[in-house]
Amino acid sequence: MFRKMKAAMYYDIGDVRYEETDIPEIGPGELLVKVGTALTCGTDVKTYKRGHPILIKHTPALFGHEYAGTIEEVGEGVKDFESGMRVVATNSAPCGDCFFCKRDMPNLCASLKDSLVNGAFAEYIRVPAPVVRWNTHQIPESLAFRDAALTEPLACVVHGIEESNIKLGDTVAVIGAGPIGQMLIMLAKKHGASTVIAADLAELRRDIAKKAGADIIIDPSKENPVERVKQETSGFGADVVIEAVGIPQTWEQAVEMTRDAGTTVLFGGAASGTKFEVDTVRFHYGQLTIKGVFHLKPRHVDQALKLIIAGDVNTELLISHEMKLERIREALELMNEGQSMKVAITP
Ligand SMILES: [Zn+2]
Ligand SMILES: [Zn+2]
Repeated sequence: MFRKMKAAMYYDIGDVRYEETDIPEIGPGELLVKVGTALTCGTDVKTYKRGHPILIKHTPALFGHEYAGTIEEVGEGVKDFESGMRVVATNSAPCGDCFFCKRDMPNLCASLKDSLVNGAFAEYIRVPAPVVRWNTHQIPESLAFRDAALTEPLACVVHGIEESNIKLGDTVAVIGAGPIGQMLIMLAKKHGASTVIAADLAELRRDIAKKAGADIIIDPSKENPVERVKQETSGFGADVVIEAVGIPQTWEQAVEMTRDAGTTVLFGGAASGTKFEVDTVRFHYGQLTIKGVFHLKPRHVDQALKLIIAGDVNTELLISHEMKLERIREALELMNEGQSMKVAITP
C-alpha cells in the first residue's frame, strides 16, 4: 500500500496548499476511502476565509468534508463494508447513547465533535468508526460520485424541510440561494408548496433559483424583500420562511416576512456572539413559531440518498464547475465570490 498521497492542507486563513502528506492510518471499525469526488461547501469557504475553531484544531490540517469514493481498506471488526465498495459517508456521527441521542435528537449529540471528518480534498480519507456505523452508505454503480457527494448537505436540508411544517398549497420564502438554498427550494416544492419565493443578492444564484423551481425571485439590492413577500401574499406574509444565509439582519427579515401563526426556520448559522431582535407583541399576539434547525440525523442521510438516487434533486444545478485537486484554492475563491455553486474536486 502506498504511504503518501496528494492533499490540500490547511495552514492558515487564506493559506491552503496542495502537497504530499501521509495516507491516514485506520484503526478498528474504520474505513480508508479512495476519494472519487469531493465537493466544496460554504463551510469550507468560511474556514478558508476566516478559520474554524471546531473543524481546524491544529495546523496543517486535512480539509474538505463532502465526498464519495471507493473503499480501499477495511478496519478490524467492520462487518457491513468491504474493499472495492462504492460509498458515501457524512462528516460526523452521533454516539447513540447520550442525553440527546436518547431523545431522538442525535443532531445535538455531545460527541458529534469527536467524530468530525475533515480531509475530503485528498486522494484518501479515513472514516471514523461512529461514521462507519451510522452514516456510511453503499451507493449504486449508476450513481456518479459527484451526485452521491451531495448526500450530507441534502440531509441537512431534509431535516430543515421536516422541521418547517410545510403544508400542501403553502407559500414558502427562502432567503439565500446558495447550494443549500437551492436544495431548500427544490424540496419545498416537492413537499407541496404551491409558491416558492427566493431572495439572493447574486445574479447567478437568482437565475439558478428559477430553474430550481422558485416562482418569484427577489433581488434584495433592488427591493425590500419583506415588502415584496407581503405584496405577494395579500399582505399576510409567507406561511413558512426559511433563512439560509446566517446573518442577524436576514434572520430578522425572515421573521418579519412570516405570516401570523406561520413558521420561521433559522437554518443559516450566524457568527458566535451575534444577536437578533424580534418584536415581542408580534411574536406573542401573532403566535409565531421561530425555530433553529441544525445539522442532520442518520435517518435524514438515508432519505437524502434515496432522493438523489431517484433523481428527485437536480444535481446539475448544484454543481457548476469541476476542477482537479491542485486547483482547490481557485475553487474556493470562485465560490466565495458567488461565481459558482459547488465545485466538484477530483484528485
Ligand atoms: Zn458541507
Ligand atoms: Zn449522543
